[in-house]
Formats: sequence, C-alpha cells, structure tokens
Amino acid sequence: MKILDSFLSLFKAPLSKGISRPSNGYHFSTINKSLTLRHVDVGSCNGCEIEIASAFNPIYDAGRFGVALTASPRHADGLLVTGVVTQNMVDPLIKTFDATPNPKIVIACGDCAISGNLFKNGYGVKGPVSEVLNVDVSIMGCPPHPIDIVDTLRAIADPK
Ligand code: SF4
Repeated sequence: MKILDSFLSLFKAPLSKGISRPSNGYHFSTINKSLTLRHVDVGSCNGCEIEIASAFNPIYDAGRFGVALTASPRHADGLLVTGVVTQNMVDPLIKTFDATPNPKIVIACGDCAISGNLFKNGYGVKGPVSEVLNVDVSIMGCPPHPIDIVDTLRAIADPK
C-alpha cells in the first residue's frame, strides 16, 4: 500500500523532498523540463541497472517528466553513475565526464556509487564516485527504488 501511495504521488506535484542539491544551483536553473543522462556503470552488481530500467518502463515512466537516457555523453546534460568505481573504470569515467558538455550534472545512483557500500575496501576498487568526480546529487538505496529514481530525476528536470 505504501508503494502504491508513493507511485500515485508521482502524478502530483511537487515531489522530491530528500534529494541533495548541488552546491552551485547552476545546473537546476539551466535544465528546464528536459534532462538527458548518460548512464555509466563503473562497477555495479547490476541491481541498480535493473531499477533504472524499471524507472524508464511504462509503469514508472520517467520519460513523461522529460527525462531520457542517451548512448552518447555528447548529447547528455550529465551522468547517472552506478556502482563503486573500480580501478579499471576510473579513466573511462573521467573520459565520459570530459566528453559531456558544460554545464553538466553528476548523479550518484545507489549506495555503492555514494559510499562504496560493501565493496568499499575491495580488491581493485578505487572508491565511491566522489573520489573521482564532484557529485551533485545522490539517490540512496541498495538498490534505489524506481520511485526514488523517478522522483529525483523529476526534481532535477523541473526544479520548480
Ligand atoms: S547499491 Fe546495491 S544494487 Fe546498487 S550496485 Fe551496489 S550492491 Fe548492487
């Protein structure tokens, strides 16, 4: 019932109470009802990917809020990063960030991306996304619920 209430609340405005806002509110003021993100998996177990896929399916449908995923960082407003950053993914993550035009936003999606979670001290692990890039917004959970993903992305796309 709680999940159903949360889902129904997506049809009402405004949402997103709990998200962490970027320190320089520039991103939010330049993105208006349109947010295109390049998803980067830097070491996820794929749990977060399943929930991101759900967030864009016909049930949760993040697309109705102007949010989309793109294959190219050159077409993106920012990065949606999942997983703890493995050593092998440090350079690809930086290259993808550099290929994204300014202004851009970095979203850490899931506890691994935010803190390293249970993989924090693992072999071959660099650390959370914040060790490589400045993180603007975090979506907590292991994995985050699609409602929380949609809620946060909606708030970024339409900050009013
Ligand atoms: S936060 Fe949880 S679901 Fe997401 S990548 Fe880490 S372990 Fe997997």
